[in-house]
Order: sequence, then C-alpha cells, then structure tokens
Amino acid sequence: MKKKCPVCGETFQGRPNRETCSVRCRRHIESRRRSWDLREAKAVEAEMGVFPDPTTALICQIGEKEKAEYKVLAAAIRAANGERP
Ligand SMILES: [Zn+2]
Repeated sequence: MKKKCPVCGETFQGRPNRETCSVRCRRHIESRRRSWDLREAKAVEAEMGVFPDPTTALICQIGEKEKAEYKVLAAAIRAANGERP
C-alpha cells in the first residue's frame, strides 16, 4: 500500500496501520501529540479553576481578559491547540 508521510511528505510502502515513513518521522508525530495532550490537560485544569503556567499562557496567548473566566480560558487554550495531530 502506497502512502504519504504526513511529517516529511515522502511516499512510502507500508501496511495500513503505518502512519509515517521512518522512525524519525514517527517520533516527530508522537512528540507533537504529547505536547497537544499536555495543552489539552491545561484546558481541563482551566475549567477546574487552575490558571496555566507562564509558558502555556505565552504559547496560547492568554491575557487578563481570558483569565477572567475559566471557560473562556479553557476555550482559548483549545483554540491555540487546534486539532489533535
Ligand atoms: Zn517521513
């Protein structure tokens, strides 16, 4: 089965469950998923009233306005996070 690697764009032969062309590209996508999951966890924390750490606040561009309401804050983190890779 001919497939296209979503990381580097290379075409490769692989079984249907194989996503990437190489271990290097697989690691890349795994790392992206891990950071996505971490930010999603921050959104869940925000819903419970926990403010994000300064790094997350910076990455997700959280300002004073977003901090005012937990749901808005969680939505802002999710908007910055986008679709799960
Ligand atoms: Zn690749």
